[in-house]
Amino acid sequence: MIWPRPKDPDSARQVDRALEIARQLCRIGYPSYLIGGAVRDSILEIPTLDVDICTSCPADIIRESLPEAKPWGPRRYSVFRVVTELGEIEIAHFRKELDYDGRHCVIQLVDNFEEDVHRRDFTVNAIAVNPDTLEVIDLVGGFADISARVIRAIGEPAIRFKEDRLRMLRAVRFAAKLGFRMENATLSAITLEGSGIKSLSAERIRNELSAIVSGPHPGRGMLIAHELGLWEHLFPERADDPQSRGWERKLSTAERAAQAGLDKTVMWALFLLPAGEPEEEDILAVADAIRRLKFPKRAGQRILELCKAVLYAKNFADIPLRIAIEIADAPYLESLRELVYIRDPNDDFETELARRFPMLDKPPFLTGEALKKAIAGIAGNEVRRRLIALRGAELSGKIRSAEEARAFLADKPRHHQRTRL
Ligand code: ATP
Ligand code: MG
Repeated sequence: MIWPRPKDPDSARQVDRALEIARQLCRIGYPSYLIGGAVRDSILEIPTLDVDICTSCPADIIRESLPEAKPWGPRRYSVFRVVTELGEIEIAHFRKELDYDGRHCVIQLVDNFEEDVHRRDFTVNAIAVNPDTLEVIDLVGGFADISARVIRAIGEPAIRFKEDRLRMLRAVRFAAKLGFRMENATLSAITLEGSGIKSLSAERIRNELSAIVSGPHPGRGMLIAHELGLWEHLFPERADDPQSRGWERKLSTAERAAQAGLDKTVMWALFLLPAGEPEEEDILAVADAIRRLKFPKRAGQRILELCKAVLYAKNFADIPLRIAIEIADAPYLESLRELVYIRDPNDDFETELARRFPMLDKPPFLTGEALKKAIAGIAGNEVRRRLIALRGAELSGKIRSAEEARAFLADKPRHHQRTRL
């Protein structure tokens, strides 16, 4: 069978580039193939910008003959990447895995292509393409499984998941993305081995989860994770969600959000919040999940701030001015609006926001030097209160020029005293 090259122009360009690289390695005497997601996705006519090449070419030869390929990850894996403006082409040496503890594995580079195919996770991910003839080389029945829309572990599923428990989460990701069902033995093994997920490093879980969360079918991903008994291990803080009344809504909201192309922070918030109105304790649970998954500091902060803001947004009319201003001026305001709207299109937040702050889009009248000058004469302990009052007055439209802002700041405290912060 001849592999159907991708139809969309970007994927076709990226694949052509990868084919060129693989042909070059073949020409200098090292068997090389396209393999993995790009081969699978092209057969399914899904656009694909990351392409994997497997090869018998040693690292020092790659360094010499492909200067654009940069070493990637630990040296012993002999992996290189060519980063193009469209995506990444990864070139990995054939390998086999010698020993495992469910988290790490000892690998050995090999010259044998077949061994490399058999160490891969699922049949649909192990179809290779000869770069010269575009012939499909399918040693594990991957094509039949694509046709039957099935995710099937290569080899003995229980062993493969014990070797590397992340594969269970990868199974969820591919089943969600592709809309495939899980083959029976693969499904049973995940059901039995599921709690092993907890022994993986936070980083590996987070990265794989992140691909589900920001993938094309995150709601489907949640459902599959639950059906396989993985949800409670992945999100122990939200273990009860599947039994709650809001579960179906949580799934459908996540699906709609993905279709609307909402950003990653919003998508994470949808996973970590309950479907209904959050309470204080739900925000504490979000903080726990962020800590447990060891998010990088800024990314974690962004998710937490956004989730907290959902709590405040539910009674925006009544929250203290200080917090309302913080939300109105926050860099995450757009994300918050999207998040609140996708969770409930009838939410009052937009109405209340427009009512409380009709001048929402106007930047402050005084900034930088002008602001410094305007506050120069104000007693230190008064400055914060007056600035908050000023911003509130600007956003609500009571002040309409820099002149008025200066006068407002300089005015005796009577203006400000009644401002509830
Ligand atoms: P996509 O790029 O759509 O996420 P992919 O199938 O290319 O999907 P990658 O994570 O890019 O997935 O990995 C490339 C290939 O490497 C996979 O198709 C699979 O053959 C193999 N692979 C990756 N991770 C594992 C793993 N943990 N165990 C076994 N094989 C793996
Ligand atoms: Mg890939």
